[in-house]
Amino acid sequence: MELRAFLSRRVVTPEGLRSAAVLVDGERIRAVVELQDVPTNAVRQDFGDDVLLPGLFDSHVHINEPGRTEWEGFLTATRAAAAGGYTMLVDMPLNCVPATTNVAALEAKRRAAQGQCRVDWAAWGGVVPDNPAEIEALAGAGVRGFKCFLVHPGIDEFSMVREADLRKALPHVARTGLPLLVHAELPGPVDGATERLQDADWRRYSTYLQSRPDEAELAAIRLMLSLCGDYGFRLHIVHLSTSFALEELRAARAARLPVSVETCPHYLRLEAEAIADGATLCKCAPPIRERSNREQLWLGLREGIIGLVVTDHSPCPPAMKRLEEKNFRSAWGGIASLSIALPVMWTEAHQRGFTLMDIARWMSREPARLAGCDGHKGQIAAGYDADFVVFDPEAEFTVTADRLHHRHAVSPYLGEKLRGVVKKTYLRGRPVFDDGRFPGDASGREFHQ
Ligand SMILES: [Zn+2]
Repeated sequence: MELRAFLSRRVVTPEGLRSAAVLVDGERIRAVVELQDVPTNAVRQDFGDDVLLPGLFDSHVHINEPGRTEWEGFLTATRAAAAGGYTMLVDMPLNCVPATTNVAALEAKRRAAQGQCRVDWAAWGGVVPDNPAEIEALAGAGVRGFKCFLVHPGIDEFSMVREADLRKALPHVARTGLPLLVHAELPGPVDGATERLQDADWRRYSTYLQSRPDEAELAAIRLMLSLCGDYGFRLHIVHLSTSFALEELRAARAARLPVSVETCPHYLRLEAEAIADGATLCKCAPPIRERSNREQLWLGLREGIIGLVVTDHSPCPPAMKRLEEKNFRSAWGGIASLSIALPVMWTEAHQRGFTLMDIARWMSREPARLAGCDGHKGQIAAGYDADFVVFDPEAEFTVTADRLHHRHAVSPYLGEKLRGVVKKTYLRGRPVFDDGRFPGDASGREFHQ
């Protein structure tokens, strides 16, 4: 196998941003060396001043296949991912049919993915009321961890769990050593608020926001932290939206509970005050909250209480967004952003004084660690997969439909001007995205240790 050298004046390595050559042997990084130390037999590719970031790792994606391929699928989701600089996705166990709540469903997913993927992938398993006996079998079959909902998830094939269900499931989860990812909203506060809004104008964003109060997230997080203390499993809070929970999460960390927290680009860029009535493209759950809350989330990232930024890519056919009806009650909740999450994040992070090192930690290293892929994915370092993004952090562009490569080019970011352009993406040493094109065949595969 020939030795290749990827050169750049700005390589994001675990030690910092530096001028370096990344030596690649087959699919893996052999070493990261000084520019003058490239072996003479290496085939050189010089990216000049463009930044070489580790391939992004998205641990929160709804690929929806098999079963809802008309919403999204392996082919379109992994294509969108490659265009966005992602080299690995971990698929959520719901919105696909069957939901990934037993080994047979996991096998069906593997068959569906076969030959379609442009980036690597893996699966989360579901925890639902009737599957405690499946949990350890799913772990043995290769899921990276588990996901549960504390509130109705919006589709019927995946059931929410209550505290009593969790007490049956958690001893099994704890035995696997894998994380449990939790959609943390409790139905009580959501149902109560929705009841009071029965006659409200559901074309207004403020009505939707009021229907999913901070209290729903806060109460759910309190419940999970207490269960984490009882059972000692690895707890991960997905898509944190309310900054009011940061104080308790800080205390939990101080008490050495094994808890990690993610948020999403839309909670870090968008703000409730600016969402127009009828703008259902911005509907997601938990909801996008006020500007002051958004700034507190940024402080949570700065402090390290929030450690991951993932997309929660959750597409649907455009009709389900009820764009004509403009109804926040009946519209599907979900924002798809795989192709543009990096520029969205960089635009916002750069303005607040964060660096590309922070981006690499939030969007690659920590998600890879959550999914147990550290040592293989998430860093530009010897022994890791040769997954890179070639990124121009100074260039600007306007989001147009042709830059969104998921199945339906629907997005609240259309028309927005963003900073930072993904020029190329390499998966295990091979280009999978190159200035708008997708070279080669579908070389993505399921991640195995
Ligand atoms: Zn999700």
